Amino acid sequence: EGIVIAIDGPSGSGKSSTSRGVARVRNLRYLDTGAMYRAITWWMLSNDVNVNDAEAVASLVERPVIVMGTDPNAPTVTVDGRDVAAEIRERDVTTNVSAVSAVPETRERMVRSQREIIAKARAESAGIVVEGRDITTVVAPDATVKLFLTASAEARAQRRSKEVRTSDVAATQADLARRDELDSNRAHSPLRQTADATELDTTGLTLDEVVALVSKLADE
Ligand code: C5P
Repeated sequence: EGIVIAIDGPSGSGKSSTSRGVARVRNLRYLDTGAMYRAITWWMLSNDVNVNDAEAVASLVERPVIVMGTDPNAPTVTVDGRDVAAEIRERDVTTNVSAVSAVPETRERMVRSQREIIAKARAESAGIVVEGRDITTVVAPDATVKLFLTASAEARAQRRSKEVRTSDVAATQADLARRDELDSNRAHSPLRQTADATELDTTGLTLDEVVALVSKLADE
């Protein structure tokens, strides 16, 4: 059976680059669960659903077909057959994703399909790296390696600014703080640390260093 590496942490903690890097060096599949929440949010916005109307979101959440490609060298995400990889990174989605993610029916659907993807990788003996907010706690508490990545607020804002190609680091930092708040102040609080996840502060580390550390954990 393939191994499962679960990586949680706030955005800008180095989660995505680390997860992809580890999947590459260890020849594992890769799943970005944040992209799934972004994809369902993109669909809601495209269909003029009021994302602050939890009942509306709940009643439509099973509607779109979301398919995730798990090759770490070229991860893909499609909604009803349409490639939305670029659109799900746009500001509109980023501002509204927390509201859609807070709806219990959204989480039920996402967790179900994430577990299916993990089971498939395991069945193929491929193993998988899964990144998100609730992977170590809810989606795969039985994972082989469970990690919680952190980084200072400044480091996170700097990384995120590079990703979205803005020079306004202060605005990015405010944005991240807002989303952290929204993501943690909810009933099931997906962004919470567990006692049994290994915490790794990536602030002063290079990507290669973090990837090497995580990969080593998988050998233990
Ligand atoms: O990781 P990323 O910033 O792309 O995640 C986007 C949003 O998706 C988060 O702000 C959070 O609201 C939601 N999310 C979640 N549970 C996950 C992954 C992401 O609620 N496992």
